[in-house]
Formats: sequence, structure tokens, C-alpha cells
Amino acid sequence: MPRLPRFVLGALLLALLAGHASADDVATDCVFCAIVAGQRDAVIVHRDELVVAFLDHAPRNPGHVLVVPVAHADDIVATPAATAERMMVVAQRIARAIRRTDLRAEGFNFILNTGAAAGQTVFHAHLHVMPRHAGDQPAGADHQRPRVGPEVLAPVAAKIRAALAQEAAETGAP
Ligand code: 5GP
Ligand code: ZN
Repeated sequence: MPRLPRFVLGALLLALLAGHASADDVATDCVFCAIVAGQRDAVIVHRDELVVAFLDHAPRNPGHVLVVPVAHADDIVATPAATAERMMVVAQRIARAIRRTDLRAEGFNFILNTGAAAGQTVFHAHLHVMPRHAGDQPAGADHQRPRVGPEVLAPVAAKIRAALAQEAAETGAP
């Protein structure tokens, strides 16, 4: 191999590091990447190769779930199609599961805030599965909703997980 001047080697090294830092599937300062990696606490209801679903820590209503890609993508537009499809399939199943529980959702909002202008506050794609009840209060901004702890979220997650397992046993779906 020819001897390369030091500045060329330095430039090559920098280019390699920059390429690594911009890799699509990791964002070290991303809270949802931290949840996916198990480095940040979350009450998880579903996990597979493509997506993780966990309870929102400031729920709009009990059973408010976020379905997120395992591999970091800034928003749904940047999410690979197969993963976006899986997010929707898992969101459907979670909604069906919630309907089987005594959380008694009468309806749902499936929400994909995309970009700051549209109200996205966490820049790792996420699909909200938001149970709704006739006449419930307007949603309000995220920072206006009170945060709840695992002591509130864990029993809700247990109901959803049990209903998901029941549904999977009945349908045989993965
Ligand atoms: P967005 O407005 O970006 O669509 O919604 C982000 C959602 O993520 C909000 O509903 C907010 O409560 C939720 N959220 C933000 N950080 C965390 C977190 O660290 N853990 C959990 N479980 N939910 C989060
Ligand atoms: Zn991320």
C-alpha cells in the first residue's frame, strides 16, 4: 500500500468517523433509542425485530401507547416502508387488544406528528395509539399533560399484554 501523507490519513479518518456518526439506525441523544436499547425506563407492551411499543409517560387517556421503530428514523417519512407497515399492524393489534380490556376505549386517534411544525416533539418516529371516550377532554399539548409513573402504567400494560397474548393465541398471528 502506498505511503499516504498524514493530512490525507487524517481526512480519511474524519470522513470515516463522520459517516459512522450519521449512521441511520443509532442516535445517541435520542430518548426513544434509549428506550429501545433498554437504557431508559419504559413500560413496554410489545417488542419484535422491527418495532417496540410502550406506554406514553404522559397519557392522553389510560392505554395511550407509542409504537416506534427499533432502528432510529427521525419521523414516519424517513422510516423504511416495511417498518412503517409493521408499526401500523402492531398499532391495530394494540387497539384491538385495548378493546378487549376494561379500559373500554370507545374510539382511537392514530397519530403521526411529523415535523416540529406539526407538533412532533420527539424526533424518533412514533405512532400514537390514543384511546378516546365520548366527551373526553381536548388533548392539550404534551407538556400540559401530567406525567404518570410506572405504578400507574404497569397495571395498564399488564392488561394490554394479556389481551395481546389472547389475541395472538386465537389468531396465530406473529
Ligand atoms: P409527539 O408530540 O412528538 O408526537 O409526542 C411525543 C410523545 O412522547 C408525547 O406524548 C410524550 O408524552 C411522549 N414521551 C416523550 N418522552 C417520553 C419518554 O421518555 N418516555 C415515554 N414513555 N414517553 C415519552
Ligand atoms: Zn432514536
